[in-house]
Amino acid sequence: SLTRENGAIATTCPYCGVGCGILAAARGPESADIKGDPEHPSNFGRLCSKGSSLGETLSLETRLLYPEINGRRVSWDDALTTVANTFQRIIETHGPDAVAFYVSGQLLTEDYYVANKLMKGYIGSGNIDTNSRLCMSSTVAAQKRAFGEDVVPGCYEDLQLADLVVLVGSNAAWCHPILFQRLLAAKRENRRLKIVNIDPRRTATSQSADLHLPIRPGTDAVLFNGLLNYLRQHDSIDFGFLEKHLGLYAEAFETARKTAPSLPAVARICGISEEDLATFYQWFARTEKTVTLWSQGVNQSSSGTDKVNSIINVHLATGRIGKPGMGPFSLTGQPNAMGGREVGGLANQLAAHLDIENPEHRNLVQTFWNAPRIAEKPGLKAVEMFRAIAGGRIKAIWIMATNPAVSLPDSNAVRDALGRCEFVVVSECESGTDLSQYAHVSLPALAWGEKDGTVTNSERRISRQRAFLPPPGEAKPDWWIISRVAQRMGYGDDFNYQSAWEIFVEHARLSGFRNNGERVFDISGLAELDRAGYDALKPIQWPVNQCHPNGVPRLFDGGGFSFPGRRARMVPVLPKAPANLPDSAYPLVLNTGRIRDQWHTMTRTGKSARLTKHLPEPYAELNPHDAARYAVPDGSLVRLESRFGQALVRARVTEDQQRGAVFVPMHWSGPYANKGLINALVNPAVDPVSGEPESKHTPIRIEPY
Ligand code: SF4
Repeated sequence: SLTRENGAIATTCPYCGVGCGILAAARGPESADIKGDPEHPSNFGRLCSKGSSLGETLSLETRLLYPEINGRRVSWDDALTTVANTFQRIIETHGPDAVAFYVSGQLLTEDYYVANKLMKGYIGSGNIDTNSRLCMSSTVAAQKRAFGEDVVPGCYEDLQLADLVVLVGSNAAWCHPILFQRLLAAKRENRRLKIVNIDPRRTATSQSADLHLPIRPGTDAVLFNGLLNYLRQHDSIDFGFLEKHLGLYAEAFETARKTAPSLPAVARICGISEEDLATFYQWFARTEKTVTLWSQGVNQSSSGTDKVNSIINVHLATGRIGKPGMGPFSLTGQPNAMGGREVGGLANQLAAHLDIENPEHRNLVQTFWNAPRIAEKPGLKAVEMFRAIAGGRIKAIWIMATNPAVSLPDSNAVRDALGRCEFVVVSECESGTDLSQYAHVSLPALAWGEKDGTVTNSERRISRQRAFLPPPGEAKPDWWIISRVAQRMGYGDDFNYQSAWEIFVEHARLSGFRNNGERVFDISGLAELDRAGYDALKPIQWPVNQCHPNGVPRLFDGGGFSFPGRRARMVPVLPKAPANLPDSAYPLVLNTGRIRDQWHTMTRTGKSARLTKHLPEPYAELNPHDAARYAVPDGSLVRLESRFGQALVRARVTEDQQRGAVFVPMHWSGPYANKGLINALVNPAVDPVSGEPESKHTPIRIEPY
């Protein structure tokens, strides 16, 4: 049996934002025994199909094991010096904004911290963005607009304490399985607990819900404005909470009244029955203990920030926030999307939840780092960054732990941009990916099981990832690679890190530096950890400081927000239509997403035969009505086409899809490139506030192959 006592290492799953604890023991360099960690408070020993198959994904056969320049093996010294010298030359000739880093929610917090420090404090540009931009940046922006800071107020335990759980744009049964199983277990214990699922598709999540609202794609903000209006009409507003803790709120009510005036009007716009809508509104109004969870179905929209604010508004208006069993709750997609936010991994942030546009904050960070400069303005967000490469404004890019050639919208344009870029550096674990062909320099990074550091999950819980496998070939930790390039660029002493621990305690110190309680993100209570303390660190929810040495499960019960006066704001939300609407040439709406047993671009999950069996090839789900209309039999090959690209996939005809909508998973590429590569079709429209792409709404047409 696998226990700590018999030598198993406690670590954290590298996949979704649930952040399950794992016990692992190596059985040779390419194999390990894996089980859920019974002591980890995010999963109590349970693992989903992806987590429990991790031991089958450790093969080194396709790994990148040595540094390469133009495909030829070189020494680390040659590779690092080439990267440093080329970046320096381009910066000296064209300025700091001519270079960029594109990083990832797969990085550990320590890797992220060093990358952000180098770009914003030493190179002096804001041009570092992350694939978290594609995932939950709309939530980041909305939480900042509502709370004054990017903070998730609640914790997983709230799902067990709630009487109503509303899931919006989330197929948690597949995408956050262990949390969803926890919710179903709570439902078995608590007969009052009802689950509502708001999603255009009928999914595994909706099948377990008491009520499914299959809304018309893109109408979430109307639904929640309608709810706000309903709550006011039915005397369900907590004006005492609003008066005490909110700076602004009247305009949000007024905008809701104008844009969602009546229940029949909302039902009509959202394309659902008045009866079902009334049931949802009544349940919400009557149920004090309500948690609203949301995910990419809300975030990945050209008005995703507004949609999230429309959800947060109903929780602020009812004072249902930060108390046991209630609150608005964003589910992060990636294992460390939140850790990246903590250290400033987004182009419009500084480290420690500080603002790049605030001169005092810039001064604070620059002083703490004793840095020669500090980025003066936000950098380019993901989609803009690759457009700037195509336009020749960015001449060098360093991509770490992510594959934009597969995962960014309009991915053929991204590939063209990479093909034209003067200097592309790729740090990655695998060789022969869709991205590798564009790399001038390839740097082998350690993978899960080999590297060491921390991640933060959806409930603000910081957990350790620990190594239990030897480093293969010459692969190195990402923080080491970045800091050794920084040293070669002339920033020696400030990047002389020897371990992830040194970086973590610096990050913890920065979070408390000149922080008199005005910023919630404060882990200064971990700044004095010695090496042994860091190695033994148990999962803990931030903030962790003098007042809260053991962390905090819930925030904002009784205020404590980050706007002046410790107040929050309700944001008036004017619902907007998606950026690109269907027309006679492209009459259907494409929605992309995840499937249960694959992760991102499949570099890891694709190695497990067990996982690949679940759904072995890319497919398009469409309604029988549309299948008949476009002469597409179930199981046949179909060509999908948008204004941006084409893909060839297999049709799956199902009543789970509503008429006019098509769902395609986003994982496939490689041998399927330009066949199953669905992001080639996805429109690159973004939310003007968050920069998050609208991956849930691209007009397409479909025809038999
Ligand atoms: Fe890993 Fe998420 Fe599954 Fe937990 S639920 S085992 S974190 S993929």
